[in-house]
Amino acid sequence: MFEFKVTGKLAGRGRKGSFSTPHGNLATPVFMPVGTRASVKSVNPRELEEIGAQIILANNYHLFLRPGSDIIARLGGLHAFMNWNKPILTDSGGFQVWSLGEPGGGLAKITPAGVEFRSHLDGTINFLSPEIAIDSEVKLGADIIMAFDQCTSDTAKKDAARTALELTNTWLVRGVKEWQKHDTEKQALFGIIQGALHEDLRREAAQFVVAQDLPGIAIGGETIGYNMSGTQQVIDWIADYLPENKPRYTMGLGLKPSDVLTAISLGIDMFDCVAPTRLARNGALYTGKVISKNGEYCFESNYPNERINIGNKEFAGDAGPIDPDCDCETCKNFTRAYLHHLFRSKELLYYSLASVHNLRMMIKAVEDAKELALRRQS
Ligand SMILES: [Zn+2]
Repeated sequence: MFEFKVTGKLAGRGRKGSFSTPHGNLATPVFMPVGTRASVKSVNPRELEEIGAQIILANNYHLFLRPGSDIIARLGGLHAFMNWNKPILTDSGGFQVWSLGEPGGGLAKITPAGVEFRSHLDGTINFLSPEIAIDSEVKLGADIIMAFDQCTSDTAKKDAARTALELTNTWLVRGVKEWQKHDTEKQALFGIIQGALHEDLRREAAQFVVAQDLPGIAIGGETIGYNMSGTQQVIDWIADYLPENKPRYTMGLGLKPSDVLTAISLGIDMFDCVAPTRLARNGALYTGKVISKNGEYCFESNYPNERINIGNKEFAGDAGPIDPDCDCETCKNFTRAYLHHLFRSKELLYYSLASVHNLRMMIKAVEDAKELALRRQS
């Protein structure tokens, strides 16, 4: 279980691979839709299967607070609870409790023991530590679980970034110990490389995390996914330390299809982002396609940021699909004009049709990149 095999080469440092989990093998690279509260917003698990989602994310912080990990455990774990029988990854909640404590937030107190925080739901005081986070993730029962880490803002001074990193590393060792008390063949623990935008800290963190010899390695922090040149820089710094035979996961990357193609060419295997569904709800719908250019792939789109704003007047009478090359049910069956109308009328159906399309575009971009590489090699 949790064996990662590289099965082929993609453009740049990209690789194709396979990662075995108790709920099936993941064909990597893979884009993972986010279902923070055990639901990918407005998308049915059946639709997720139809658009080729192989794995989804859920968040330990949110589920720990509501409905509670014990309730989900009693109901058979997350897979049964949400009726999703493919792999699931849970994030530990480190990022969420950190955001509560950010300037202006003031809702979290971080000590070496863990983080005391006020629930954003009802103001009650709660506590998460590396051990409690793992115990909760064990109850939720995801195939891949993340270690409890302490984020730092990218604008943080080096001293603050170093303190956070040292805490993250200590917490990782404690998390590993806790994880080893449970069935490590049932759930894979990934460690997270932090260190903000400091080269020496990132290198140190990479060596530390790799030395734990866990089933997978994640790269975290505010920059990742939101600042692609910063992300590329961080990956370049640590690339030499990353072992070939472990999956690499950039947390929160996938704002637009081209970002995912960039990550693939940097040798990343897994990525997730709330952007496709969040943008969809706000009227921003991806359009464009993957093309091959000088042995590299890129995402070609006629629109800025690779998306149209469906609320714009120009689409009111547009009889075409959102994207002429997309194979999703929304594009096969509905026009831009209809989606424009639903969006302007705030009809609930809009959210589901739009989210299905944006997720499919992201998943298809990854599939097309693999397909193009195959054709080039044959
Ligand atoms: Zn579509």
